[in-house]
Amino acid sequence: MAHSSAHTQFASGNGVGLMRCPYPNCGHSNTIITKVHCRMHHQMEREVLFEQYGKPTRVLLNYGNLK
Ligand SMILES: [Zn+2]
Repeated sequence: MAHSSAHTQFASGNGVGLMRCPYPNCGHSNTIITKVHCRMHHQMEREVLFEQYGKPTRVLLNYGNLK
């Protein structure tokens, strides 16, 4: 796995926000949909992917279940 030290400042007030890749049946979710993911898994640039399939869906982790 490639480790990137950039883009680690993604934070939200309520829990952790995850983005889900809009590509059909991809199911990949992360704090950010990386350009590398789009290139490696979908052979397209992120901008193109978002244009064709829409912006990534925001997924909020449910901290209510944590004990
Ligand atoms: Zn994907």
